[in-house]
Amino acid sequence: MNEKFYHYSAFCGLFGYPIKHSLSPLMHNLSFDHHNMDWIYLLFDVPPEDFEKSVIGLKTAGIRGFNVTMPFKESIIPLLDNLDEGSEKIGAVNTVNIVDGEMTGYNTDHSGFYKTLENHEDDINENKIILFGAGGAAKAVLYALTHSLEVEDVLVIDIDEKKINALKANTESWGVHNISFSISENIINLNEKIQEAKIIINATPVGMTPNPDNSIIEDINLLTEKHIVYDLVYKPQKTKLLQMAENKGAVAIGGLEMLIYQGADAFTIWTGREMPVDKVREKFKEALGNG
Ligand code: NAP
Repeated sequence: MNEKFYHYSAFCGLFGYPIKHSLSPLMHNLSFDHHNMDWIYLLFDVPPEDFEKSVIGLKTAGIRGFNVTMPFKESIIPLLDNLDEGSEKIGAVNTVNIVDGEMTGYNTDHSGFYKTLENHEDDINENKIILFGAGGAAKAVLYALTHSLEVEDVLVIDIDEKKINALKANTESWGVHNISFSISENIINLNEKIQEAKIIINATPVGMTPNPDNSIIEDINLLTEKHIVYDLVYKPQKTKLLQMAENKGAVAIGGLEMLIYQGADAFTIWTGREMPVDKVREKFKEALGNG
């Protein structure tokens, strides 16, 4: 057996609950191998009542950095020494780096999302966006749209009034004035709004396995080749919404890209190196298959 399996010079990992099926170990361990680094990325599937003591214990044991996912993206914050600007404004952390015993929180969901749209920046700026969903993922997406891009306006739509109100309250401190919010049942002229928008983003679980026949937009004729359609769902890789977009000649972007780039930014924060994103994408496509 390779000597490397007996000794690692550093370890990182993911805290979440439940996370048994996470693709993150595949992405990071492949990237460590790519750079010939004897680091390892592990899963810490801990129930909420054990979260704080697990973080403190692993910090004591020398963990170099880690990701946090549901349900810990907010509860990690009081345990940290510093927050970067994005994670502070979003109020959620998905990446922690530890240097000289100090834990700093970052949010690479927003920076990763932005990177996936860098090539489309000219199309997006000064255009209208519709964002379906007002949950955790939508918050990071909204931050990227209003801080890294120069969109004309974003309309956020969600079925859940509480989520809409919470997101609205959160964004008030951002000092941006180009976001409007609506509950699905109150929306007027949605079809026209979809037709006027340049980019349509699904940040809801609609269309996700085990319900792949659902789509946040039901009428395919609302989509045209001028649209960019972004579905954060990555299981299945090609959701019904993305199939509809492709059929109409629109640009269709799947959630795998955001997953890869949020990981790539975390990898760079910990190691100072670039993730081999093409290799990771290939492996993820193999791992996910069509399901
Ligand atoms: P979340 O916090 O539960 O937010 C989803 C929101 O969508 C909820 O407020 C939900 O309302 C709402 N919703 C459900 N059906 C809707 C509909 N038909 N119309 C409008 N709003 C609707 O979930 P999340 O963590 O933000 O994740 C959302 C999706 O993004 C998931 O599919 C997740 O897998 C994906 N995601 C992808 C990435 C990536 O890297 N690609 C990262 C994060 C998340 P209720 O609460 O009332 O159901």
